[in-house]
Amino acid sequence: MDLLNNSSSEWLDWRWQYRNRLRRPEHLAGLAGGNSNLVDEWRRVAQSYPFAITPYYASLMDPTDRDDPIRLQCLPDIRELADIHTGQDDPLEEDRHTPVPGLIRRYPDRCLALGTNRCAVYCRHCNRKRFWKQGSRRFSRAYFQGMIDHVAQNPALREVIVSGGDPLLLPEATLDWFLGSMKAIPHVEVLRVGSRIPAVMPMRINKKLVGVLKKYRPLWFNTQFNHPREITPEAARACDLLLTAGIPVSNQAVLLKGVNDDPETLRELFYSLQRNSVRPYYLFSCDPVKGVDHFRVDIRKGMEMMEQLWPRVSGLCLPRFVLDAPGERGKITLQSFSL
Ligand code: SF4
Repeated sequence: MDLLNNSSSEWLDWRWQYRNRLRRPEHLAGLAGGNSNLVDEWRRVAQSYPFAITPYYASLMDPTDRDDPIRLQCLPDIRELADIHTGQDDPLEEDRHTPVPGLIRRYPDRCLALGTNRCAVYCRHCNRKRFWKQGSRRFSRAYFQGMIDHVAQNPALREVIVSGGDPLLLPEATLDWFLGSMKAIPHVEVLRVGSRIPAVMPMRINKKLVGVLKKYRPLWFNTQFNHPREITPEAARACDLLLTAGIPVSNQAVLLKGVNDDPETLRELFYSLQRNSVRPYYLFSCDPVKGVDHFRVDIRKGMEMMEQLWPRVSGLCLPRFVLDAPGERGKITLQSFSL
């Protein structure tokens, strides 16, 4: 069966999408254009940085274009190995700010709870590539309970951001229990979920899942669309399901060389998000993480692009362009003085 042209109802089943992810270099042979060196390169990269691509996300690629923006985000690239011995795994010092396994606390009032290290698609620009080495892990109840206990013992924590990996790969029952346990802590006022699922496997956002999430409002949902072609009818439907359940959806794009580093692409991305009632919240400068250097855009160029967009794009469409700094320093807004 041609996985990318499956018109049966399976296509809309997220479990089918997850099970049938392209995960081995030979699965990608059709994208090599007969270049066996390329398949060898993918094999070499995958030894350090594995890959997985849902049939849905792969179907968004133009298979004839080596510079396709979807392809760049999900196919292994030999440039990922350029700094394998010199780059930093954790430049934001998340591991140093981990008081209990899975819980990252860089700010006094909020923390990040990593629900899983699994993802539907392994984004080549990910800033947590260090977790990929651990392989797919299923965390124990004690792991989750350790995070709940830490939050309960720290009254300054008013917001918990559940992320990963992709937390929407957890079973609904686990999510329900974990979100419910956090929400039951009297000083926890707000929950947030960070997930790239709407962009890479939108069929996961179904009524059952949304039924769990909406129980814990105010719950904010942050996703990551980096290119307007990711905002398909399926992705729009996923966002709409969340929005109509009263869950605000915001977008945290990453500025990526070759993917969205030109003003027209960014403008179309921001317009498209707004057309779908998704708030363009942040545009991140790509973190200096090992294995992603080829995606990094000069900060000055990013500021110039935002400066060009500023007078031409409605303020509601413009995200904050930010750089995430190590440790407690957090996000730094990148804006030229002329704005
Ligand atoms: S979904 Fe998020 S955590 Fe997973 S690879 Fe992509 S950016 Fe990284």
